[in-house]
Formats: sequence, C-alpha cells, structure tokens
Amino acid sequence: MRRSSNHLADGREIIYFDDTETAPRAAEDTRDLPEQAPRSEIRRDPLTGEWVGMAAHRQTRIYKPPADLCPLCPTSPGRPTEIPESSYDVVVFENRFPSFAQGVPALPSTVDGMPMVEQAGGLGRCEVVCFTSDHESSFGGLSPARVRTVVDAWADRTSTLSALPGVEQVFCFENRGEEIGVTLHHPHGQIYGYPFVTPRTERMLATARDYHAEHGRHVLGDVLAAERAAEIRVIGSTEHWTAFVPAAARWPVEVLLVPHRQVPDIPALSDAERDDFGRLYLDVLGRLDGLYDKPLPYIAAWHQAPVRVGREHSWLHLQVFSVLRTADKLKYLAGSESGMAVWVNDATPEQIAERLRASG
Ligand SMILES: [Zn+2]
Repeated sequence: MRRSSNHLADGREIIYFDDTETAPRAAEDTRDLPEQAPRSEIRRDPLTGEWVGMAAHRQTRIYKPPADLCPLCPTSPGRPTEIPESSYDVVVFENRFPSFAQGVPALPSTVDGMPMVEQAGGLGRCEVVCFTSDHESSFGGLSPARVRTVVDAWADRTSTLSALPGVEQVFCFENRGEEIGVTLHHPHGQIYGYPFVTPRTERMLATARDYHAEHGRHVLGDVLAAERAAEIRVIGSTEHWTAFVPAAARWPVEVLLVPHRQVPDIPALSDAERDDFGRLYLDVLGRLDGLYDKPLPYIAAWHQAPVRVGREHSWLHLQVFSVLRTADKLKYLAGSESGMAVWVNDATPEQIAERLRASG
C-alpha cells in the first residue's frame, strides 16, 4: 500500500491510498473554491446527558447530482471534482460540509446562560472515504486486495484522527442506498472524529465493565464463544473472524462481524486479521444483496474503543444492518423506536440467519 497526501484548493487535506506502489499523487486542484468556515457546535441535552451536534451550514450541501457531475469520480479534462487525480484506488479527504471540524469558533460554555445546558464548538473532524474510482461499483464488488487497502486506510485515519485536538472517538461507517438518505451513489463511506464518547459506546462500555466485574471476562468474548458453539445464528467464519446475527437483533437484517481476538480498534488488527476480514465481509455482503435479489440498502458501523477511556473494556466489531424488512418495505423508526428507544423486530434473529445462510 502506498500513501501520499496533498491539499485541495480550499486547504482541505486529501490522502491517497494505493493498492500497489504508484507514482506520487501530485495533481493540483484547479477549482476556485471559497474557504470553508465550519460553524458546527455541540449541546448537551440536560434531560438525557447526551450530546447533540448542530451543523446549520450543512444545509447548502449538494443533493443527488446526476452521475456526470459526481464529485467523487476522478477529475477528467474540463470536469474537476473533489479528487484532482485522473484515477485512484482509495482516497480520503476532509468533508466540505463537516458536522465536526478543527478551527470551529469557541462558544460560551452554556446555551443562553442556562447553566444546565452545556455547549461547545463542534471540535473534531469529518472525512469522506472513496473505496474505488468506479462510480457503478459497490463495496461488495471490491477485490480482496482493495478491501485490504480500505482497512489500512481506516487504520491510518483512526490513528491520525485520534491524535487531533478534541477528538474522543473515531467512527468509520458506510451508508448505502437511497432508502437511508444517501445523496451520492459513488461507493464511499465516512469517518467521524467526535468531540465526545458516543451514547451507544458509553452504554456498551458500562455493560462490559459490569460483566467483567462479575465474570472476569469480556462479554463479547463470551457471546462469540456461545454463538460459535450454538451455530444457529452464525452466517460464516474464517480463522480470525465470525459473522453472526445478534441474538437480540433490532433490525430486520443485522449481522455482527467480530474478530476472535480482543482488540480495541482497527489499528490494532494484525496483517492476517486485516486480510481475513475482507474474505468474510465480501461473503456477507454477497449474501445481503442476495436476500431480496437486489442491492440491499445498509449501514455498516465500526464499533471502536474511545481514544482515552474504556479501551480495556472495548472489543472492536462491525455491525451491518438494513432498514429493509421485505424487498419493498422499509422499517420506519416509529413511536416505540424513536420515542422510547425500544426496538420491535418483525423477524426473529434465527429466521434472519437462516435466510442469510441460504442466500448468496
Ligand atoms: Zn462517481
């Protein structure tokens, strides 16, 4: 893998990750772009203690441009895009309309002087990761070698963002499909460096801490061993990873990919674990698309340890899930889910696993 970095016309950083040794990526961005002045902020909900991000400047972002105006395709003569090079393997750049960024203005520590409502600048970083220069491809269509380059890029960005001022947790994810609000069809994901530990992670760390105090082991390690023994919810496994439908799945389609060794984050994965991940993940993605015989809209979310706290109670894993409950019906987050955070799943995890094993 070869890594090279440059800057876009408005000063944002762009980093190329190539599968093999290539000439240095040095093409200049010829566009005339206005300097970005992100004004995002965070406020803490005084009733739940959870932080909420506010990014009003995002309202001007591009909405579903036609394919010949895709900003994630490589630049061609007379048609400059976000990527100045005429080709690339994997490329990462700072989001032009970030929810969190470096250099956001400082704010008073409370909202309108209300001492119970804390606020701060949305200090962090948001990046876009393009998995391939092929507009019509998908993550599931990548070669194993390319998936390895993507994993290396995620590892590089997790380490780099973790070292930035204000960043407390790094989240690598992919949203795929119009059904979940994807505005650009080019195969890509995102990376958020949050200025706080996310509510989901806080909750999982507390559970892991309690479980460890009682049993002396990690809860996900015990779940993994039990799922592998039971087999009924297992979709596939390799030497270093197992994919299974969680026993209390919330979504109509949901799979966890878990490494057999407890590691806090992607940078901690060995070479063999990184290669092995691609083999299993490509198989799982093939099964997801086979489920309804069409590309499945999904969210793929990497659960990584926070930067500074709870690392000993973290166990890296990838959660892939879909909002599609039949070929043409969406699961909406309605009253119970949105109001009370209580999920009701129409399918049992055992049924989901059976269908995924038969698919692909
Ligand atoms: Zn494109």
